[in-house]
Amino acid sequence: MSATRVLVLNSGSSSVKYQLLDMRDSSRLAVGLVERIGEEASRLRHTPLSGGGETREWTGPIADHEAALKAVSAELAKDGLGLDSPELAAIGHRVVHGGKHFTEPTVIDDAVLAEIERLIPVAPLHNPANLTGIRTARQLRPDLPQVAVFDTAFHTTMPESAARYAIDVETADRHRIRRYGFHGTSHAYVSRATARLLGKAPEDMNVIVLHLGNGASASAVRGGRCVDTSMGLTPLEGLVMGTRSGDMDPAVIFHLARVGGMSIEEIDTLLNKKSGLIGLCGDNDMREIRRRIDEGDERAQLAFDIYIHRLKKYIGAYYAVLGTVDAVAFTAGVGENAAPVREAAMAGLEQLGLLVDAELNAVRADEPRLISPAGARVAVAVVPTDEELEIATQTYALVEENA
Ligand code: AMP
Repeated sequence: MSATRVLVLNSGSSSVKYQLLDMRDSSRLAVGLVERIGEEASRLRHTPLSGGGETREWTGPIADHEAALKAVSAELAKDGLGLDSPELAAIGHRVVHGGKHFTEPTVIDDAVLAEIERLIPVAPLHNPANLTGIRTARQLRPDLPQVAVFDTAFHTTMPESAARYAIDVETADRHRIRRYGFHGTSHAYVSRATARLLGKAPEDMNVIVLHLGNGASASAVRGGRCVDTSMGLTPLEGLVMGTRSGDMDPAVIFHLARVGGMSIEEIDTLLNKKSGLIGLCGDNDMREIRRRIDEGDERAQLAFDIYIHRLKKYIGAYYAVLGTVDAVAFTAGVGENAAPVREAAMAGLEQLGLLVDAELNAVRADEPRLISPAGARVAVAVVPTDEELEIATQTYALVEENA
């Protein structure tokens, strides 16, 4: 195929993140971001990477996603990479919620759009924005294959015993309530990259993936297939995150409504935006929390301890789910950069074969690397995630398959 470029679009409610990749060598030709769409001071930040160009920034009104994509195309065109280029093979869209239905990347047609729309009740924040991005891109290049890559797809292999909540089955089914899991593109990429690092086939190993970013989730991957993950119907469940509470007694919600007089909207905001690390200590950036701990700040220390305690519970739980574990992989902003988090999460787990070498853990690098000592029973690794590359790879593979 002569067209080898893939544009990856991640459309949020007021932003579009994008990357243009050349799939001959998976190189990045350009990356950028449009923010504050719909406001007076929208901002476009574009970095051409192919010719070593400088980052260009532009501030001004960008009314909607269509205007945003046109602005992106104009920026790309300045370097000969515009949306109208014959070398563009496809556009890959990150779609947050694919429900039970979408188990794989899918070429978008009207029926696929309708199904993504049908899932809006379970992803009210994300799917509408993803749909807007897809519709706009289809208008601009109706002839081009557009592929949806779902955040939930990797988790559709979970057995019912892991995916079902223990609530009335009919009520659950009527409202499509079950564990879907998110960050699936990252869990898929990192579990495979971990196998590569160890020189094994993904089918031959069991991995616990810890995606620790501002949002955070863990997954248990057996033989390349996800068997459990910590996020649920929505990304609120599971680990302590930057601004989300993660697990708690669901009755906290009744209590806040009945005794605290809070509305459902207020509780939603509290648990999704004002909880987790920021709720516990006022900061959600692990760098700042570590700095405060170094200065003896007790609230920051407690927030860190709660974060680590929860993380350890999931590591133990997924160890038990898998039975045998070949590797634990840390990824995303915190997982890749915060050595103290990795050290604390593994502390005391020697009996499980989990050990961290202090020197290796202190190394900073962009490459996947082991931080467990030589000869350790379980490999502990830092594996940088690359969701855009994974979306581009899946998109291109599907388009080539259909060519
Ligand atoms: P992500 O959502 O994957 O982009 O991760 C963002 C989070 O990573 C930030 O909120 C920080 O908490 C964390 N982070 C990024 N860089 C560092 C660093 N050098 N040290 C510790 N934490 C970091």
